[in-house]
Amino acid sequence: MKNTGIETIKGIRNLLEGKKKISIVPHENPDGDAMGSSLGLGQVLKNRGHEVQVMPVNDYPDFLKWFSSDVPVMVYEKDKKAVKEFLFSSDVLFCLDFNEEKRAGHLEKMIHRFEGEKVLIDHHPYPSSFCHFTVSEIEYSSTAELVFDVLAELGYTGSIDSAAAEALYTGILTDTGGFSHNISKNTFKVVSELLNCEINTDRIQSAVFHNFSADRMKLLGYCLNEKMQVFPEYRAAVIGLTKEELDRFNFIPGDSEGFVNYPLSINNIVFSALFIEKEGFVKASFRSKGDFPANAFSIEHFNGGGHLNAAGGESELNFQETLEKFTQLLPQYKHQLLKTKF
Ligand code: 5GP
Ligand code: MN
Repeated sequence: MKNTGIETIKGIRNLLEGKKKISIVPHENPDGDAMGSSLGLGQVLKNRGHEVQVMPVNDYPDFLKWFSSDVPVMVYEKDKKAVKEFLFSSDVLFCLDFNEEKRAGHLEKMIHRFEGEKVLIDHHPYPSSFCHFTVSEIEYSSTAELVFDVLAELGYTGSIDSAAAEALYTGILTDTGGFSHNISKNTFKVVSELLNCEINTDRIQSAVFHNFSADRMKLLGYCLNEKMQVFPEYRAAVIGLTKEELDRFNFIPGDSEGFVNYPLSINNIVFSALFIEKEGFVKASFRSKGDFPANAFSIEHFNGGGHLNAAGGESELNFQETLEKFTQLLPQYKHQLLKTKF
């Protein structure tokens, strides 16, 4: 951990002296890393005698609802009062896998108002300083990998049981796209430690990647066959899905997970975008190869952020206008896209 000094670790260790009430909040629309890192950390803290709850602002996809962890998960949108009560009676709040308060959606204001100690553990660039203790390491594949190293520094590895290890492994597995990107020597070192905790990796692989509905597979086929536009002259591609199309395929949250990656499998494509029409806005996802900055593109044009090669954002224009905005932006990035090396 390059940026995290011993004082930060000592500070976090002090916060966790005695039995504490602890809230853990991941980012909105939690993905495998958000839930995996939260449940992994939560399980270890619970194993050490703390009272812990994981509280995402909105629900997480069904393909993540199989964790062995017995840490309670309470979704703010489903039970606002209970989440508020638990949060404001907590001693410590951990913010996981996001870099600024607004990434927690409607929990933003409560995180801001929370008067106990706040700790951020995250791997996104440009962290804002809204916590007393910030562990921000952008070279990590995932927050889950980083949580493991924080636990090791705290001297807590003995409290990592198979439920915690399974959750952390899932965070690493999903944020690296099945160990295909952002991996380092440390990633595999951490994975090897987690494998010592007797986790069933075949089961996790099936639960995460081989657990789709037939409707989701048909939606993917429809996307690639009828909705993907490829712009070889810009080395870019885009897929857009309207609400009507999602309804036609009985869309449930999580069904479009991974769609944005497919165009990058096309020879010579280095930038891919996915736009999904939601209630009152359009959700954007961007993926890139090499040094083309998907995050800078998203910050500049779609009110978003993320990593160099994986970013997201949103648009308040209508669906058609959003797609047009994207395609009209491509000429101004032509030079950068054509010189992208990977
Ligand atoms: P995804 O495309 O999977 O939704 O997100 C890819 C990456 O971009 C993730 O690291 C996620 O945290 C980040 N991201 C997604 N949506 C947003 C957004 O609206 N704002 C910001 N700042 N980051 C986002
Ligand atoms: Mn992550």
